[in-house]
Amino acid sequence: MSTRSAAVAEPSEAATERYAKSAAAHAAAKKVMPGGVNSPVRAYKAVGRDPVSVVSGKGAVVTDIDGNDYVDYVGSYGPLILGHAAAPITAAVSKALQRGTTFGMPTEAETRLAENVVKAVPGVEVVRFVNSGTEAAMSAIRVARGVTGRNKVIKCTGCYHGHTDALLVSAGSGATTLGVPSSPGVPASVVQNTVLVSYNDLEAVRSAMETHRGDVACMAVEPVAGNMGCIPPADGYLQGLRNLCDEFDVPLLFDEVMTGFRVAYGGAQERYGVTPDLTCLGKVVGGGLPCAAYGGREDFMRHVAPDGPIYQAGTLSGNPLAMAAGLAQLETLAADDFAAYEQLETTAAALEAGLRKAAKKAKCPVTLTRVGSMLCVFFTDTDEAPVTNYEQATATRTDRYASFFNAMLDHGVMLAPAAFEAWFVSTAHDDATTKATLKAAEKAFAAAATIQ
Ligand SMILES: *Cc1c(COP(=O)(O)O)cnc(C)c1O
Repeated sequence: MSTRSAAVAEPSEAATERYAKSAAAHAAAKKVMPGGVNSPVRAYKAVGRDPVSVVSGKGAVVTDIDGNDYVDYVGSYGPLILGHAAAPITAAVSKALQRGTTFGMPTEAETRLAENVVKAVPGVEVVRFVNSGTEAAMSAIRVARGVTGRNKVIKCTGCYHGHTDALLVSAGSGATTLGVPSSPGVPASVVQNTVLVSYNDLEAVRSAMETHRGDVACMAVEPVAGNMGCIPPADGYLQGLRNLCDEFDVPLLFDEVMTGFRVAYGGAQERYGVTPDLTCLGKVVGGGLPCAAYGGREDFMRHVAPDGPIYQAGTLSGNPLAMAAGLAQLETLAADDFAAYEQLETTAAALEAGLRKAAKKAKCPVTLTRVGSMLCVFFTDTDEAPVTNYEQATATRTDRYASFFNAMLDHGVMLAPAAFEAWFVSTAHDDATTKATLKAAEKAFAAAATIQ
């Protein structure tokens, strides 16, 4: 984390008025929930203000409790690739709802969504649905360990695989460090089996595999990093990982919870042409309802209970409402020969170009990254300074990001309050939302540039 603290201006009276109901809602929420939120990033701690309380969303726009509208790039942190309350999804979920919310018995919708996933994602031959990306990553690691009989997991600093104990390990310095827990409550004995390497560094992976030869259950990676801002894989990085995994006989796990059905219909593995042994999915696959999945090679997945001895279960797994939402989302994305992805590319490219221009005009140095409809603005010391890993990402100007965020919010654009989140473009974003965003961005970049 940057040591520079967030720049917090005294809010004007008009600004206070604008968010009055949100402030009251947050005060009530804080009394009964930690930080008043159910996931830490939703608190606006990093930007020094109270979070905005949302009442509804439609298309690319969310509306807060005070009646303010925002062009939304949070997209619920990834699932909403068709925008808010997309008609195919609300229709499918309403229909499913009438038939019952959960059964604890198989439904055909589960098979249909599983067939869609298997058909779409190159590395997935057999799949199991779960309720969150955290659960998917935890279970995929269990499969890797159960199948190989080994314990160590190599992961990249700055890659997020949910909050499961073994993967909740902070960045250590140096190329290959044994993990230290990044949260109280995570036993050191658990993360002793987690080996950290820097993202985009193949030599570090080779060295870790040599050091722990015969002990590595899997190499886990976000094929496009999306939880330290958006950081694309360097040319040849993913293929290099595949080659090293083959050389050392280590299963390769792609955590595509964010990138699956996002950077391409078949995920990053389709986009970059590198097939992992195990894959985690989430976010887009559930159409905005709680749903995720893990899957992979049949010879791995047949070890999962009841086909095999590796235990994993869930009362609400494969929930019929989530299956209906996921199916509607995937069918819409696949329609007209995957036209949605071309549209996402066009919209996101225009936004990227416009943001670059706006930053230049405001003399605010930035590094912009983008893969399809995921993008990120890093506030760097010089224009286009390289941001290729966690170490570089966390050295960027979070104080400038906080200022940018606050100005964007005040001008009707909703971004994530943390500097290290991707912006998500949906099919509901268009020329008009881009224009509104860029108008706000000109002012916001100018404000950010004044922070020394
Ligand atoms: C969001 C995310 C997760 C965690 O998913 P949850 O549903 O929030 O538990 C795991 N891995 C990646 C890559 C993610 O982006």
